[in-house]
Amino acid sequence: MIYNFSAGPAVLPKEVLQQAASEMLDWHGSGMSVMEMSHRGAEFMSILADAQQNLRELLAVPSNYKILFLQGGAIAENAIVPMNLARLNGSSESAVLDYVCTGSWSVKSIKEAAKYANVHVAADARSLNPAGKFNAIPDESTWKLSANAAYLHLCTNETIDGVEYNFVPKSSAPIVADMSSHILSRVINVADYGVIYGGAQKNIGPAGLTIVIVRDDLLGHALPSCPSAFNWKTVADNDSMYNTPPTYAIYIAGLVFQWIKRQGGVAALEKNNIAKAALLYDFIDHSKLYENRIAKECRSRMNVPFFLRDESLNAQFLSAAKERGLLQLKGHSSVGGMRASIYNAMPYEGVQALVNFMQEFEQRHHP
Ligand SMILES: *Cc1c(COP(=O)(O)O)cnc(C)c1O
Repeated sequence: MIYNFSAGPAVLPKEVLQQAASEMLDWHGSGMSVMEMSHRGAEFMSILADAQQNLRELLAVPSNYKILFLQGGAIAENAIVPMNLARLNGSSESAVLDYVCTGSWSVKSIKEAAKYANVHVAADARSLNPAGKFNAIPDESTWKLSANAAYLHLCTNETIDGVEYNFVPKSSAPIVADMSSHILSRVINVADYGVIYGGAQKNIGPAGLTIVIVRDDLLGHALPSCPSAFNWKTVADNDSMYNTPPTYAIYIAGLVFQWIKRQGGVAALEKNNIAKAALLYDFIDHSKLYENRIAKECRSRMNVPFFLRDESLNAQFLSAAKERGLLQLKGHSSVGGMRASIYNAMPYEGVQALVNFMQEFEQRHHP
């Protein structure tokens, strides 16, 4: 049995991969693979419409929000967001964009947005940590929000650092959230946000698809220099068909949405995700060899970074894990240590297998 703990591109439900394999050469009697179909043909149009409709149902997306399928990933959105929204309150030169910095992905978003407008960092989690590391979310009461910000940007799950919001801050400006690595893992109220975006390759499907959920009134404000293919209004007006969308990735994402519905929807997955995260964090907290350094109230349910207190065992840990079929546990190079990403498609049994292995490894090397 293989369990894949990659942070992304990441594990997909086996059932989905099996269905894709069985439909690879001939989708529903069409005689074609989905990869070979015109994006404007009836077959693919039905795949796209189903995927969009199922995502709308799963997240209960209100009717005044558009669901867009784009390319470029969340890193492209770091530029696309300010290109679409910096002018929301008037001229772009004087626009202020509020960002809260809670981890490596926030850092990237801030750096990119600063090319388009004045970025104001309303709070930076590094100021809470003596070593300047990201391991908590600054208390909302300490955030210095601007009076006239076009939007407030958050990364609601920091994939690299393992920090996740479990609250929605109060904000008079629309909240723009990078949800790449925890979208569909927990119930959210879409109406709390102006824009939700994310790359698909963490919790939805293959790399190449970016999902943007945007409130109607935030469309139509793009900078004149914004590329048409990244102007959300142009994309929305063309129902994500302004340019050729990533058709095969949309098809796989659509199969994942169907799979989530069969699991009982996002609420059922959330219940399982809470149980998976509790199993792993409780084990780590009670062990003498492993530790997690993130403040308890903002530990990510999806990405669990941890360290061996004896780091000379790191290489041995990874090779022994691999022998047991527990793959891709090495932490991000900027953080070090280990990281177990336990997305929707990771079954409880996979986390149990990891905990069993970690326990045995500890007994063997650190009794
Ligand atoms: C992976 C990730 C990104 C980057 O996604 P790309 O597809 O490489 O652009 C950005 N933000 C978060 C939170 C991520 O997890």
